[in-house]
Amino acid sequence: MRLALFGGTFDPVHYGHLRLAEEACEAANLERVLFTPAFVSPFRTAERLSDSAHRLQMLRLAVQDNPRFEVSELEIQRGGVSYTIDTIRLLRTHYPDAEMFLIMGADALQGFTAWREPDAIAQECRLLVGVRPGYDLQATLERLPAPIRQSVQPVLMTPLGISASDIRRRVRQGLSIRYLTPPHVIEYIQQHRLYLEPE
Ligand code: ATP
Repeated sequence: MRLALFGGTFDPVHYGHLRLAEEACEAANLERVLFTPAFVSPFRTAERLSDSAHRLQMLRLAVQDNPRFEVSELEIQRGGVSYTIDTIRLLRTHYPDAEMFLIMGADALQGFTAWREPDAIAQECRLLVGVRPGYDLQATLERLPAPIRQSVQPVLMTPLGISASDIRRRVRQGLSIRYLTPPHVIEYIQQHRLYLEPE
């Protein structure tokens, strides 16, 4: 089984995430991608995230028609600050024989050495890193220690300058978010009146 963990806050999920996962599947021949929303992101402990139930449900709506995509509640159920290395070790116990990958965007790779046990993560998983407009993947790669750099497989996905924070701002300002995230996610945001309050 070629299995990828894809972590993030997904507040909300958008086409940047979905295209990254899709192109990572093609690039690495993945059989399953586990979209795993963080309960609390280690670098964003001061930020107010939307309720995990909302973030999970939007993810489920976004991936429902893709048999290779799955939503995992591992980090939400564990609670507390969500460290990727803990999730990887737990996944290992569920899938002892899997070849494991970790999906992230170029912005995440930039801060990767500040994550908990980055060397252990890079040893356990190949890092599938998507290009992201505004982030110089090549320069980031050159600055990384060799063992981590060698674990990176760049995903030359269609560059999409979409971000969840921009979507939240647009909703707050009453602007359209059509074509930035799937229609079911947009309906969910409207039904539950998400992102209307100042952050
Ligand atoms: P925010 O705007 O709130 O910071 P975000 O859009 O970056 O959110 P996250 O949930 O924080 O979304 O991202 C999860 C992962 O997806 C990260 O590894 C991030 O680098 C990657 N990612 C998000 N958007 C894109 C995109 N447009 N292109 C490539 N990778 C992306």
